[in-house]
Amino acid sequence: MKRIGLFGGTFDPPHNGHIHIAQAFADELKLDSVIFIPAGDPYHKQVATRTTAAQRLAMVERTIAVDERFSVSDCDVVRNGPTYTIDTVSLFRQVFAQAQLWWLLGMDSLLQLPGWHRYQALLQSINLAIAQRGGLGLAALPVALQQWLPDALAKNLTTPDGIDGGRAVFLQASFLPVSSTDIREQWSMGNHDDVPAGVAEYIDREHLYQA
Ligand code: ATP
Repeated sequence: MKRIGLFGGTFDPPHNGHIHIAQAFADELKLDSVIFIPAGDPYHKQVATRTTAAQRLAMVERTIAVDERFSVSDCDVVRNGPTYTIDTVSLFRQVFAQAQLWWLLGMDSLLQLPGWHRYQALLQSINLAIAQRGGLGLAALPVALQQWLPDALAKNLTTPDGIDGGRAVFLQASFLPVSSTDIREQWSMGNHDDVPAGVAEYIDREHLYQA
């Protein structure tokens, strides 16, 4: 059975922290591929994105070159209106009808998940791989997720195969203390070390993240 990883994000810009967790995702879950899915309209982000979706997609295209297991989908960029994760997952379910699908997200995103559109249906339709981030622990987990988590973790151990969703796993990999926010705010001060070279060239060429 194929195992496919889906990695949604704003990627404004993509950075080494994304690459680090995507590689841990592929290694630890023995995935056949990891598909990066840049958001079109990031409705659950507080701050409006400063770059166009086309620019963020272009930066992700330069990022996936670092690992042959990585690819990118523009499905959320080309879709009109808000892009809900549950719709994205349904789309991939149609494409990969016989694969086990995993969604990668950082601990900070997991804490916000109860705010996502139809999140309970989402938790049933896909398996979640959770990456550590910033020392955030389970103590901060919303009550709704505290009830879901034990069964989801157990399901990954007791029924590791099958195309159904509802599993969860915590990745072992440590986190890199990198964020897109820091890169955007510090780019004009010369902090260019946390993105792949191809992304750095693109940011400079397009004059992104100028003060
Ligand atoms: P921003 O600073 O703009 O909020 P970000 O760095 O969190 O951006 P996103 O594109 O929003 O980047 O992140 C996509 C996914 O990757 C999210 O699930 C997020 O939790 C996760 N993620 C991003 N950076 C890291 C990191 N350094 N360690 C672990 N998870 C991360």
